[in-house]
Amino acid sequence: MPNEQLPSVVVLTESMVLSNRLRRLLERELEANYISCDIQSVVEVLKGDAVDLVVVSNPLAIQPDPLRLLKSTQRSAQLLVFDTDLDISGPVIEQKVAAARLILMGMLPLPCKPESLAVVMTKLRLISVTDSLDRAPIGPDEVRAAIDKGVIQPWYQPKVAMPSGTVVGFEALARWVEPGFPVVEPDRFISIAETEGLINSLTRSVSRQVLAQLAIWQQEGKHWHISVNTSVDDLESEDYVDWISAELDATGVQPQGLIIEVTESRVSKNMPLLLANLSYLRQMGLGVAIDDFGTGYSSLSQLNQMPFTELKIDRAFVTEAHRQADKRVILDNSASIGLGLGLAVVAEGIETIDDWRQAQASGAQVCQGHFSGAPMPASLVPQWLEDWQRRAAVIRSAAGSATPMPDEDEPETSTQPQVSGWRRLFRYFR
Ligand code: C2E
Ligand code: MG
Ligand code: MG
Repeated sequence: MPNEQLPSVVVLTESMVLSNRLRRLLERELEANYISCDIQSVVEVLKGDAVDLVVVSNPLAIQPDPLRLLKSTQRSAQLLVFDTDLDISGPVIEQKVAAARLILMGMLPLPCKPESLAVVMTKLRLISVTDSLDRAPIGPDEVRAAIDKGVIQPWYQPKVAMPSGTVVGFEALARWVEPGFPVVEPDRFISIAETEGLINSLTRSVSRQVLAQLAIWQQEGKHWHISVNTSVDDLESEDYVDWISAELDATGVQPQGLIIEVTESRVSKNMPLLLANLSYLRQMGLGVAIDDFGTGYSSLSQLNQMPFTELKIDRAFVTEAHRQADKRVILDNSASIGLGLGLAVVAEGIETIDDWRQAQASGAQVCQGHFSGAPMPASLVPQWLEDWQRRAAVIRSAAGSATPMPDEDEPETSTQPQVSGWRRLFRYFR
């Protein structure tokens, strides 16, 4: 009997031998209900119960074309492809997946290293499928205890320049990670932390871990920034700027490596203090990003008042924008506002090659989304990087671009605003 609390994974291969090998590999990384299929049975299986992931090996060697068949089921399947000849088949598979409008979670070589698979597995977020089923309701006491125990930790989602694919930085996204429990995502605890007066200690705990990671990367000569989410309550606390300044001094981190993301999910109680603190952060050399632009309180009036260096377009206007004209209008105009103000423009929620192309056409310079990589623990970043560099090369060659892949250790200057921060700071002080 399948366990209903586990994700279900369909494995489609050209032979039973390969199917068994793949399942053994997958089972090491993901507890799931596995269904082995051949091309004759896959459509029937997909018509049945919900399927979380379809794994296909050597799709170009299977007849009839499995990617077309998947498309015909009209399900937006999440797909993981293995291929024995990825260098040659990769670009063709990419094109076919894009044409079939499937969500490509990763392409991996066969044979495959377990570490490569681990990276893709974090992306699938299947681990959280059981989240709500396993955990008792979370209240303020649990959140307070989790912060105190240090089990709320930053995972890192890559930010990559378009079209080169060069890694420019990562966004730190809080995850509650305790052995024996599914990973808990922030929508289950951030708002509790905000309403219960715990957000300052949560932000400071996450920021301390981020600075420790940044110190390591900077010592390794990596010119990657890390963006940290903050709440209005953090930025309106009297000692926030002094605190961050002291932490930077203590860790020796270059302030240019840190970007503070601001989402006004709560109404400002002290706008002058908020503005002054943001301006101090800019003076210290940190970046300041307006998050979720286009939603909630992240509005045009904020842009006019605050010394931002980066504008992040909310994923509501990015994912599927290639298919929906109204999203496209907002995406294009948001990007052009950001560019017009001299800000670095980031498109959040890029899930497919079509989203990538559409965001790039809007003028957005940086991609953040499951297409390039989902949030992951810092320990998986090196493996992700290897995987991404290979995929980025495939994407570039499929686009017929002659742009070389810049050295990942070279500083990326093109996505940093040249003058905007200071120009905007002066405007504020005028
Ligand atoms: P955010 O800052 O806008 O972060 C982006 C969110 O979009 C993340 O959700 C990320 O996992 C998700 N995302 C990125 N690319 C894709 C994609 O291609 N498809 C889809 N479906 N989702 C994508 P996450 O990690 O669940 O975080 C949700 C929100 O929680 C964040 O939104 C942020 O507002 C808040 N948050 C996360 N960590 C912290 C933190 O340390 N402090 C504070 N104050 N807020 C945090
Ligand atoms: Mg954010
Ligand atoms: Mg956002």
